Parts: sequence; C-alpha cells; structure tokens
Amino acid sequence: MGTDTVADTEGRRFDFVIVGAGSAGCVLASRLSEDPNISVALLEAGGHNDTLLVNMPAGASQLFNNKNPTNWAFDTEPQEALGGRKLFQPRGRGWGGSSSINAMMYIRGHARDYDQWRQTGLTGWGYADVLPYFKRSQSNENGGDAWNGDSGPLHTSPSPPGYPLQRVFIQAAVQAGYPQTSDFNGYQQEGAGMYRLTIKDGKRWSTANAYLRPVVGARPNLTVISNAHASRVLVENGKAIGVEYSAGPGKPAQNVYANREVLLSAGAFQSPQLLLLSGIGPAEELQNLGIPVVVDSPEVGRNLQDHIDCGVLYSCTKPITLFSLLKGYRQPMVGIEYMLRGTGHGRTIHLHSGAFLKTRGELDRPDVQIHFVNALMRDHGRVKAESDGFTIHTCPLRPDSRGTVKLASRDPFASPLIDPRYLTEPNDIRCMRDSIRMIRDIVAQDAFKNYRGDEIAPGAHLRTDNEIDAWIRSTAETLYHPVGTVRMGVDNKAPVDGNLKVRGVEGLRVIDASVMPTLIGGNTNAPTIMIAEKMSDLLRGKSYLPPQDAPIAEDERVAV
Ligand SMILES: Cc1cc2nc3c(=O)[nH]c(=O)nc-3n(C[C@H](O)[C@H](O)[C@H](O)COP(=O)(O)OP(=O)(O)OC[C@H]3O[C@@H](n4cnc5c(N)ncnc54)[C@H](O)[C@@H]3O)c2cc1C
Repeated sequence: MGTDTVADTEGRRFDFVIVGAGSAGCVLASRLSEDPNISVALLEAGGHNDTLLVNMPAGASQLFNNKNPTNWAFDTEPQEALGGRKLFQPRGRGWGGSSSINAMMYIRGHARDYDQWRQTGLTGWGYADVLPYFKRSQSNENGGDAWNGDSGPLHTSPSPPGYPLQRVFIQAAVQAGYPQTSDFNGYQQEGAGMYRLTIKDGKRWSTANAYLRPVVGARPNLTVISNAHASRVLVENGKAIGVEYSAGPGKPAQNVYANREVLLSAGAFQSPQLLLLSGIGPAEELQNLGIPVVVDSPEVGRNLQDHIDCGVLYSCTKPITLFSLLKGYRQPMVGIEYMLRGTGHGRTIHLHSGAFLKTRGELDRPDVQIHFVNALMRDHGRVKAESDGFTIHTCPLRPDSRGTVKLASRDPFASPLIDPRYLTEPNDIRCMRDSIRMIRDIVAQDAFKNYRGDEIAPGAHLRTDNEIDAWIRSTAETLYHPVGTVRMGVDNKAPVDGNLKVRGVEGLRVIDASVMPTLIGGNTNAPTIMIAEKMSDLLRGKSYLPPQDAPIAEDERVAV
C-alpha cells in the first residue's frame, strides 16, 4: 500500500504492473485500482514530486529548462536541418511525469485529427469515440457543455485576468482579420483566444495531483514504487510476465510480476527504449547491440514526431511584462507570497492567450499554434530577460518530418538517442516561415500601438525567405510534444494494434503519448490522459463509453 520501498516489493505479484507514473501512468493506476479486486503496481523512476516548485504553477520556469530531479533533461542528436545543433529535450520525472513540469495548457487538438486516426482503420479512435473520455477526465471550472466535462479528476480553469497584453494579442489578431474563439477545444478551434489551464485553486493539477494522490494510501490494492527505474520487461514463452527494475546504476536488480499485463507508460522516448532493451524492436539494431531478439518489430522507435517552435521577440514600451512585474525583490517574493497567502504571480503560468491559425486559406483546419508569452523568452527561458518585452511562439502543428529513438547502448540508464529530424521536410519550414510573417502582421495592428517596441528577433531587417529560414534553423527549439514512437495501427508493421497491445508479445501494452500515430494539432497532455482513460475501461472489462458527437465548425471561418 502507498509508496513502498524498493526492497518491499521484490518478487511480488500484481494483476497489472505499470511502468511510469506520468500523464498516462497515474490515470491508469487510479482507474484500474477503483476496482478493489484488481491489484496494481506503479513503478516510477523518480520521486513523489510534492514540492513547492512543482505545485506552484510559476515554478515551472525553474524546472523544465534544466536537469533536476523532476526532469530527465535529454538532448537530441545533432539536427542536420538545424545546423547540427543538439536540442534540449526536457521530460518529466517522478509522480505526474511531464504533467508535473509542463506549461499546463489544456488543449485537445482538432476533432479531425482523431477522425483521421479512425480513417486509417483504427476503430474506436474517431472524435466521437474519444470525446466522452476527454469529458470524463475533465472538471471544467466554468461548467460542462457539449465539449467539456464537469466532474472528472482533471481540473481546468480559465486564464486569470490582470495581464493586459494577453488580451491585446487577441484584439490585434482580430484586427488582422483572424477569427476569435471562446474555446479552442469546443465548436471552433480556429482563431485567437484565451487558454484554459490545468490549474486548481492556484495549484498545478498534474495527473499526480488529479488522479494519484487522492487515492494512494487509501487503496490497499494500489502500490506505488518510487525511485524504481525499470530496465526491461521480462518475457517468457512469448508472454510479458513482469518487469525488472532497480533503484539506480549499480543497485541490485529486482523483479515484480504481473498476473495479467505489463503496461508501459514511460513516455515517447522511454517506452520505445524499454521495448528495445527487452528485445522488441528492429532485429538488426538489437543484434548490433547484442540484445537477444524477442520480436522483430521494425517500427519501434520510428515515426517520431514533435512540435518544433520559434519565438518572435518584441520589446515592450510599457513596464507591464514579467521583467517589470518580477524586478528586484519582487521575484523572491513570488514564492513567499504563494506559500504564505496562496496569492500573487505564482498562481499561474504566464502564458494565457494564443491562436490556432491557417497559413493557407484552403486548409480544413489550423496548421499553426501560437502561444503568447508575457516576457522575452529565449532558449527555453534560460537567457535572462534584461528588459520589458513579449514573445510570440509559433509551431507547425502537423509536421511531415519523422525521426527516431534508438538505444545508445544496452545500459538501461543511458539516455536514448533521440533524433527528431526537425524541419527536414520542406513544408514544415514553409509553414513556420509563413506563420512568422502572420505574427509580424498581427503585431503591426493598432491594438499593439501603445506597447509595441522593436522586433528583437528575427529582427525587422530579415525579410526574404532565405533570411527567415536561416534564422529559424538557428533558433528553433522543441515545444515538448514528442509522439508516435510506438505508433498504433492496423497494419502489421505498427508496433501496437488499436487496443495498444504490442504485436508479437502477449500481456504487454504501451499506453502513453508514444502510441499516437500522428501528432494531433495541439498540446499533448490531455490527449495522453484521454488515451489512458479509454484503455482503463478496456482493461477493466468494461464497455467503452458510447460515442458522442459534438458539433464542430465545418468551415472554421464561421464566427462563434
Ligand atoms: C516542458 C514541457 C512542457 C509541456 N507543456 C505542455 C502543455 O502546456 N500542455 C500540454 O498539453 N502538454 C504539454 N507538454 C506535453 C505533455 O506534458 C506530454 O505530452 C505528456 O505529459 C506525456 O505523457 P506520457 O504519459 O506519455 O509521459 P510522461 O508524462 O513523460 O511520463 C513518463 C513517466 O515515466 C517515467 N519513466 C520513464 N522511464 C522509466 C523507467 N525506465 N522506469 C520507471 N519510470 C520511467 C518518467 O519518469 C515519467 O514519470 C509539455 C511537456 C514538457 C516536457
């Protein structure tokens, strides 16, 4: 019960063994253990993450951009289309996983993204099929409607008032001729609007806080094993029977066993890594590392897709951005005020408005997403801002570029080789370039008149395609949404089927962001939670919730 020490669990048996207490793993552990007849072990390499910096939304700025106990802080392989740069790749570690360090944007992607999954033969994954699971997971602070749930564990709240530039951005986008939308997850995704955040009463609502903490300790059938790094899945006679893990390099290996199934929820880099370490992957690659091949599954670690992002920076002529709001003594006061009174700038992340826009009129849905940041933000916020300014981030939503995750070695503690091959396909950089021009047009509107300073980056002097492309290639960074590395599909090459069962092994599933066959048009936390919610019904032998359609704009230019 509760958080056992590693030693207590050696050799123990559970119905389900889940690896990774992240966005998906916490949902699975919580939903499966609702049934007192199902015993569940949840293995997590990191710790409990119940700290001020994790729980205080503004604390994210101290966690996601550096190596620390909550962050694996990977680096990519040199990116050929980005001048050979290695890009920083944060991933959450500990309870809540990436939902404990993420930016808390509550976004689901476009309805048509899921319909496209279903059109590839993935029955049960269309928008009408997944909507009930999005709704079941959510407790929307403004109440439920056709698109939003009102009684789920995952609390979502509107962005707070009091940061005027966020709304200036929306006004300017409207002046530039773009629509406005009241709910990016509702009838119409396209347009500018305010984000909804996974924050409850000023506290980060990670999946640990939403799903795990309320039940852990109260359910004798749920065991969370923290500081337990899984090193491989134990497979016997074609069936997954358990997981080997240890407390770290050089520490003794131990086993837990699964009566029913092993569920991998270690995220888009580490679920494929674990499969490969267990001999499930491209045979030649495994043989080259001396790993005995259990299943030749050529696409494990392939099909990596991620959102690549650029931030257009402007100075601001008024002292209303984070630089002034947090100047001098005010910065340390944020944490103190939050701890003592639960008030102040610590209660939110300073990223409230944005837009989903089309770079071409003929598209059936937006192909870029914009995040407006009330501060100058360079290199994941690692470059300290020295003046007032704002950053308008943009990313192509459905990149054509595909990358890989491979093993560096047989050492389970070695970081995987992550090669997203960002911007290797021409439409991705075209899309980014067009959106930068759209941002310039938005900032040129009247709404920004009293706030707009110089364009700091790329810099107004960079105008031609070649100049803008060169700037993109030298500055683009991840927007933290890797998926697809253990894609689900109905074809035999897909490593998992539509029920997320690993092909070729009994009793083994992957349930996390890795299984998305294509990147959805938006942030990936809510979609990952939806996937785990849906799978928990299957694993408990329950019927899926009946499909539920909600209207979406056929022509997204229709005003709301
Ligand atoms: C900095 C950042 C900002 C983001 N911002 C947003 C946002 O604002 N909105 C949004 O929707 N999405 C955002 N995302 C993306 C979103 O959080 C992820 O897509 C989502 O959390 C992925 O869930 P997951 O369950 O697949 O993996 P994770 O949540 O990453 O969970 C994987 C878990 O497995 C554990 N693990 C890994 N390997 C092992 C092992 N060998 N043994 C034991 N445990 C292991 C990890 O420690 C981790 O806890 C962001 C992500 C990051 C990193």
